[in-house]
Amino acid sequence: MRGNAFEAKVKGDGGTELLRLLHERMGAGAEPPGQALTPDLAAAGPEGRAARTALALREATESGGWALLDHPMLALEVAGSPAYLEPDAVVVHPDGRWTVVEIKSFPMIDAAADASKVGAAARQSAVYVLALERVAVLTKGASVDHSVLLVCPKDFSNLPTASVIDVRKQLAVTRRQLTRLARIEDIADELPPGTTFDLDGQSGASLATAVEAVPAVYAPECLAACELAFHCRGRARDEGTVTALGRSLRGELGSLTTVGEVLAAARGESGDPADPTVAAVRRAAALRAEAGAPCR
Ligand code: SF4
Repeated sequence: MRGNAFEAKVKGDGGTELLRLLHERMGAGAEPPGQALTPDLAAAGPEGRAARTALALREATESGGWALLDHPMLALEVAGSPAYLEPDAVVVHPDGRWTVVEIKSFPMIDAAADASKVGAAARQSAVYVLALERVAVLTKGASVDHSVLLVCPKDFSNLPTASVIDVRKQLAVTRRQLTRLARIEDIADELPPGTTFDLDGQSGASLATAVEAVPAVYAPECLAACELAFHCRGRARDEGTVTALGRSLRGELGSLTTVGEVLAAARGESGDPADPTVAAVRRAAALRAEAGAPCR
């Protein structure tokens, strides 16, 4: 609620304050925004909204003035299927540049915000930049900023302040990840015939069976990002997979993929002693035993 109220405040009065902040931080050389266009982006369904957004971006770029697009809809192909994304705002500059604006409710104290939250906002914004680039290539005179404007409450007040984040690194990472994603068709080919995720005409039990047919690699980070997190966490715990304990641990445990395998290796019941991971867990177990806490 606090986030929504802050966003409404930032965008109030036709986005005057938002455009002032953007001009102050990124509008070098341009006239200060007086009357900016605020096109209506309403349309039926995400596809219709994405088409309406693309048209509004084209018209705003051709107009040669400032424009503020509030909650535009962008489309990006992910693993062969369209994903629809909704940035908080996109501003069109008079020179044809498009800038993604992300409004967050965490504070910027003494002009600096929590680094992990800024990092997450940068990764999120990089995906919007990628999606915008797909529209910009079809729009004469348009270009997309590889820096985004992050707007947050200033210190302990609810007054907005902003900083510019360079997302070039996040863009490169996201591009690489998108090209490496397994295509949805390939995943679907591996599923038992007749598997469906349709909610109509299917019992909860058969839907759960369908979901379980899809391989998943749960990690605690999923809790903040995916609606299936509790389901996948329960499954990972039942299977005793080490990923449920964190990705870094999984990386360190190499070929030992379950808690049972790790404990058996630590007790010397299994595992190749020449394997550095097995040697490391045995050494850890020995140190633990020396400290008086046997490995259980
Ligand atoms: S919680 Fe979501 S992201 Fe994580 S493994 Fe399950 S389906 Fe994948």
